[in-house]
Amino acid sequence: MTELSGTGVTPRAGIGRVVWYRGTTDLEDPPDPATVDPDEELAAFESAQEAAHEELERERERTSERLGEDEAEIFDAHRAFLDDPEIVGGIEAAIENGLPAPHAIRRAFTDPIARFENLDGPMAERADDLRDVRDRLLRLVTDGDRMDLGDLPDGSVLVAERLTPSDTAQLDADAIAGFATIFGGRTSHAAIFARSLAIPAVVGVGEELAQVGDGRELVVDGEQGTVVIDPDDEARNRVSVSETPIVEDHVSTAGGREIEVAANVGTLAELDVAAEQGADGIGLFRTEFLFLDREAPPDEEEQYEAYTAALSAFPDERVVVRTLDIGGDKPIPYLDTPDEANPFLGERGIRRSLGPDSDLFEAQLRALLRAAGDHEDSGGSLAVMFPLVASVEELDAALSRVESVAAELAGEGINHAVPELGVMIETPGSVFMAEALAERVSFLSIGTNDLTQYVMAASRENERVSDLHDPRYPAVLRAIRRTVQAGHDGDAWVGMCGEMAGDPALTDLLVGLGLDELSMSAITVPDVKANVPEIDTDDAAERADRILAAQTREEVVRLLSVEEAE
Ligand code: PEP
Ligand code: MG
Repeated sequence: MTELSGTGVTPRAGIGRVVWYRGTTDLEDPPDPATVDPDEELAAFESAQEAAHEELERERERTSERLGEDEAEIFDAHRAFLDDPEIVGGIEAAIENGLPAPHAIRRAFTDPIARFENLDGPMAERADDLRDVRDRLLRLVTDGDRMDLGDLPDGSVLVAERLTPSDTAQLDADAIAGFATIFGGRTSHAAIFARSLAIPAVVGVGEELAQVGDGRELVVDGEQGTVVIDPDDEARNRVSVSETPIVEDHVSTAGGREIEVAANVGTLAELDVAAEQGADGIGLFRTEFLFLDREAPPDEEEQYEAYTAALSAFPDERVVVRTLDIGGDKPIPYLDTPDEANPFLGERGIRRSLGPDSDLFEAQLRALLRAAGDHEDSGGSLAVMFPLVASVEELDAALSRVESVAAELAGEGINHAVPELGVMIETPGSVFMAEALAERVSFLSIGTNDLTQYVMAASRENERVSDLHDPRYPAVLRAIRRTVQAGHDGDAWVGMCGEMAGDPALTDLLVGLGLDELSMSAITVPDVKANVPEIDTDDAAERADRILAAQTREEVVRLLSVEEAE
């Protein structure tokens, strides 16, 4: 038995057999040459080569427009490599000798890459260009053969270097026993998604995980943050179901202040999990998951159906839908999201909706206003909020788009209503402008995953700085306090939908800080709901004051454990 440590992301443990998810450049051993059809493999290579030329041409044009001709020239070099007689000849010869196209590509690039690696100075960098061209070809040639993550054998534990949000979105939560990754942090979208679907998961386990072969038995313990290879009985016994009872009703503190405990969802499948866990509605519907893992965006009608489904799953509750938040770690290939050096500081969230994705934003707002109108007579309601707002100007622009879409629908005689509107507080800019933002909307929702990343300047994806990505730092807590006060002064209700809201050890602090709503991965709803009735709000506010006076995280952590013991 061997135990490895990582970051647990779901308070659940699962056991199963390892299935490796290999990237496109990791190839299995080649099959028997007698089973390879050289004509078919040659055709596969040629079509990947053609597709690579087209991609490079597009990237060249974009780069030339944005950065100028000099920068764009690198793509000419890449295109030249694609037609290099030595490389192409090598690929063709290897295929004729019985290798499949991907293996032939890998082999033909090996010597040229090694030759450049052995040179000094700038020529050595050419090796990187060659690797880039090779990987592009491999990606294109293996695309059709990518593992179907939605169809893994029951009881599999998926093990991967890393998983993207769209990889995770394909997983069948009922079939898989868990997943573990070499890289990744607790608030990466893959981790959040695992939590919403109650999939046991541990991320950031490190390179040692690479040693675990396919078919080995593995316990993934998301509670302890460990993976156990070839588990003994004690480790197997960790695999059990949470005992916390589900609370269907809304909950209030001891003094009678209601705290809404809602769920975060990204897909329609998660709506059922949220309802089963007793969530008081949806506090964050991450609509970008409707756009991932497909060839073209969902149209207005498809979105209308999705929002209507969410409202129907919670007919007497509020459903807060967030408008498209792509960019950052959620690129969407068909939208031509740019390759950026700092994607989390680049074109993401509302910036895209007000810029290159303006048409998508309009279609989304139309679908939302129609769903709100058609649901007006039910006991529940729709609310809409905007992600990654950093300035009042952005919020004003988004609100004016809502107004113009409403006028357009009215002109077309289409039933609609303007839903309750809110803004996510995820950037220091929005914290400092929270008063002005609250004047313009009816609620603020604090996204602590991003807020922590931007306040602490520590990427939510980078395990090397994961220690800094902790909302218990006083700077983050003070940003939260400021937001709650500004929101309430402006008569806005204030919620929190970052992962912090779902940590049961922090419920007392968050209620003490005055939050009105907490929205979280569905799986943590019962634990947080169980805490609320135990809380006396005046005492919690005093404890929060003491904690907010702390100057270090260490002191915060110490005070949290003292308060808990009281
Ligand atoms: C957040 O940033 O806290 C948040 C809820 O949004 P997301 O995790 O989807 O970026
Ligand atoms: Mg966010």
